[in-house]
Amino acid sequence: MKTLMYMAPQVKEVSDWTISFQNVAYVAAALLFILALAGLSKQESARRGNWLGIAGMAFALVATIWMAISGADSTLIAVILIVVAILIGAAIGIWRALKVEMTGMPELIALLHSFVGLAAVLVGYNSFIEVPGSALGGRVNAFHLGEVGLAVFIGAVTLTGSIVAFLKLSARISGKPLTLPGRNWLNLGALIVSIALIIWLGYTEGLVAGLIPLIILTVIALLLGAHLVLAIGGGDMPVVVSMLNSYSGWAAAMAGFTLGNDLLIITGALVGSSGAYLSYIMCKAMNRSFISVILGGFGGDGAVSGEQKDYGSHRETTAAEVADMLKSSKSVVITPGYGMAVAQAQYPVATLTSKLREQGVDVRFGIHPVAGRLPGHMNVLLAEAKVPYDIVLEMDEINEDFVDVDTVLVIGANDTVNPAAVDEPGSPIAGMPVLTVWEAANVVVFKRSMGNAGYAGVQNPLFFKENTQMLLGDAKASVEEIISNL
Ligand code: NDP
Repeated sequence: MKTLMYMAPQVKEVSDWTISFQNVAYVAAALLFILALAGLSKQESARRGNWLGIAGMAFALVATIWMAISGADSTLIAVILIVVAILIGAAIGIWRALKVEMTGMPELIALLHSFVGLAAVLVGYNSFIEVPGSALGGRVNAFHLGEVGLAVFIGAVTLTGSIVAFLKLSARISGKPLTLPGRNWLNLGALIVSIALIIWLGYTEGLVAGLIPLIILTVIALLLGAHLVLAIGGGDMPVVVSMLNSYSGWAAAMAGFTLGNDLLIITGALVGSSGAYLSYIMCKAMNRSFISVILGGFGGDGAVSGEQKDYGSHRETTAAEVADMLKSSKSVVITPGYGMAVAQAQYPVATLTSKLREQGVDVRFGIHPVAGRLPGHMNVLLAEAKVPYDIVLEMDEINEDFVDVDTVLVIGANDTVNPAAVDEPGSPIAGMPVLTVWEAANVVVFKRSMGNAGYAGVQNPLFFKENTQMLLGDAKASVEEIISNL
């Protein structure tokens, strides 16, 4: 047991007391992580969930550091190395977290996932170099090397997949799907060869013999990770982000196996399975098949962007006219999107909501599951601005009501209210469920100009419908002007 519990540079015997302390701390941390996930599942308890997660991580860190120090040959060097590493990591983390805009969160998350992948690869190699083939003998050897191979494989796929996701989300490379001929066969071939390489690795003896399959495996996994994400189109990136979240969890769990660290296995499995479930929810929300996402994308193949089509001309309106329209409406629905986040318009939107409600107007919000740039983005912004939870409805809860709604305010949403998803089978977003705002009597779209398309790069026929009027300008300024006209 003791040999299995070691963390890197540990050569000294560790006392039973230290091991017991670590076990208790790990159980407490694991329970706190489970409670954190439960808390995060509802808006009302999300803050508590976050604190529970922070407490769990504090327990885990203290116990792991304590164990590493107690087992290290030189306590002083171990303490210095750990403290310096924590200080550097914390400084970079705090700097990035303070700097990042809410709209930049998905790319930051993608980058952080790549670190987990890199860590799993490094842990795998370290574990292999420390205990190369034959040192353990027979089946134990094969099992250990199998763990190393799996950790390196999952870690490398996560590493390059996350880097490509980061580049796509931050618009450093095109969001267009890369459709190599026979791409599914390429992926399948890479997977089969990787399994064969892991088996080969399991049978090797000694450092040099093992390094050959391990290095080939790493290169194939790195290419596979990049190809999987390159093949996915812009509008489908939400699924990729949650899928990589899941991969990073499994990479951490595999690193836990190679390190013999039970808590890392539990934490990795929690992240991996919750990420997989989130991907499933996102796929359902976007009417996509989870399997096709994992197997290298969908959409894009021969899909025709609606941009070439002529939808006619649009109508523009003013804040004063919108204020009049709202005053004469009985029922109003607000469907926010990424543009509300960019404009930071949630605060005036909350003020507008309370003013209208004071005047007896029924105001509700319709939230698309992939609105904005990260799951729950709109809910977080509205909660921040203190919009009451009970008027914030999911897409499925509100979609049938639009026919009875007088006015819909589409505040910075585009893809999530695009009728092309329903009407145009050739569109890259065809089949994605959308908020059917066009069924309402009047629709007002807040947008800065007619030039830009939504995230998926598809033109939106909603803007040219007879019952739609465009209120062009920054969403925050537009909402504030409406409020002053009310
Ligand atoms: P979109 O990204 O489709 O469109 C945003 C709209 O906001 C555009 O019409 C833009 O037009 C407008 N806008 C931007 N800034 C402002 C501003 N300051 N004031 C007024 N309007 C503004 O938004 P949706 O939320 O409808 O859709 C989200 C998209 O992002 C989907 O395609 C989804 O798949 C994808 N995605 C979602 C993720 C998630 O987890 N939720 C993650 C990654 C991608 P203009 O520039 O002309 O102002």
